[in-house]
Amino acid sequence: MSKLALPAFLHNRTKGLFINGREVPAASRRTFKTINPATGEVIAEVSAADAEDVDRAVQAARKAFEGPWSKMKPFERQQLMLKLATLVDANFDELAALDTLDLGAPIGRTVLGRRRAVGLLSFYAGLATSDHGLTIPNSTPGEVFTYTLREPVGVVAAINPWNGPIGMAIWKLCPVLASGCTLVLKPAEETPLSSLRLAQLCVEAGVPEGVVNVVTGDGAVGAALSAHRGVDKVSFTGSTDVGQKIIQASATNIKRVSLELGGKSANIVFADADLDKAVPGSAMGVFQNSGQICSAGTRLFVERRIHDEFVERLAAFARGLRVGDPADEETQLGPVVSRKQMDRILGYFSAGREEGASPACGAERLEAGALKNGYFLAPTVFTNVTDDMRIAREEIFGPVISVLPFDDVDEVVRRANQSEYGLAGGVWTRDVGTVHRVAHGLRTGTVWANCYQVMDPAVPFGGFKMSGYGRESGVEHMNEYMQTKAVWINTH
Ligand code: NAP
Ligand code: MG
Repeated sequence: MSKLALPAFLHNRTKGLFINGREVPAASRRTFKTINPATGEVIAEVSAADAEDVDRAVQAARKAFEGPWSKMKPFERQQLMLKLATLVDANFDELAALDTLDLGAPIGRTVLGRRRAVGLLSFYAGLATSDHGLTIPNSTPGEVFTYTLREPVGVVAAINPWNGPIGMAIWKLCPVLASGCTLVLKPAEETPLSSLRLAQLCVEAGVPEGVVNVVTGDGAVGAALSAHRGVDKVSFTGSTDVGQKIIQASATNIKRVSLELGGKSANIVFADADLDKAVPGSAMGVFQNSGQICSAGTRLFVERRIHDEFVERLAAFARGLRVGDPADEETQLGPVVSRKQMDRILGYFSAGREEGASPACGAERLEAGALKNGYFLAPTVFTNVTDDMRIAREEIFGPVISVLPFDDVDEVVRRANQSEYGLAGGVWTRDVGTVHRVAHGLRTGTVWANCYQVMDPAVPFGGFKMSGYGRESGVEHMNEYMQTKAVWINTH
């Protein structure tokens, strides 16, 4: 990692939890190691929270919620968010470097997160002063005036996966600050560092103590949060399995829950598409972030007439990607996040072969030279895949595309929808009628046409079916953080 300056945050390699505006050790004093997946080396020792720490954090968040914070004027919260946006911008090189070390995402990719991070904070700062209730004409006899108030739901627990640490932490933070809720954030065990740094920046921006807390540790920390009776809402991003556990745990006190879960998204290329765009678009719709993106278009449906040519071009593109040291600005793909994740994906390489699929490229670990201690995988394209194979049905969360030939629109939409997931989908064609038919036909929360993986703070994102419920981004995101109170006033 010679090319990356050590972030100042890592001058001290022991990291506490962040509770009530300051860094504190775990009650048990236990720590865990966070690993650089490019080298297998330890980056830092991070406090391992347990139920006692979760309780402390929830109490701090409750106290802050009941204190002056939720009575602060929307304009004041907006100003704090804009100040935080400025600080995040000023410190983004450090945040990006922390994610490159912790996740292994190439520095050329993590630095690009600046625009999204600042964009999110700015967009939600706007929502802080524009969310409002309604005056409602009613038909009750007499003179009764009715209006609605929108009030923050209270203490929010946000539980994140590891695949986009700082961007995801800010995404969870934004509606909390905009609505006047308070937060206990649990980053993934693999990537805790940038969330801890973000909490410091919140304090620097003037966010009152207790409004933003971070508890680091394993899944048990998330489980303790989602069962805690002091938590009013859980916002979860992660796997469908854990999402189901969170729904069950939320029953203790009927928490609100929003879930951004897994996917096995269909990306559909018609023969009339602009292949010069469709080839790199479809490839990077999976390979960016080494395939560790929930909405990756991993089921790549290609119209049979162009199947062979497309596969050839896709494989050539994949072979040309620069996989290597994430600290190198030229690198396009880094390692996957952990040995465990690498082993899982290697298992899918074997499963694909065993079920009769053929790799057009990749399907192997890369361990030559400097890569030997890291968790690097070659970008992989499987052909001869059928819809029932595991590689065509299960979320792999690695750099793996399964190519499936098709013949017509109705057939491909039907097959695309034969998935328990419904996160996203893509279509590549020059025919606007086909775009509409596919966009209406896909049972997914997002459809991209002639592009893939585009996101914006103003545009809602979320799943259908087992990809979850609730939408993040867009004005409707605020609904998840506000509750509506109806007020009746007899004016006579
Ligand atoms: P995961 O295993 O579900 O973990 C997500 C988070 O939940 C982690 O912080 C994890 O802690 C925590 N957790 C584990 N067990 C828990 C429990 N019983 N109760 C509460 N929290 C618990 O997912 P992952 O492997 O990190 O991430 C990959 C998955 O996330 C994929 O399925 C992917 O599709 C999905 N994802 C979805 C989106 C989206 O927006 N739809 C975005 C990104 C990722 P530890 O990991 O620290 O143990
Ligand atoms: Mg790590």
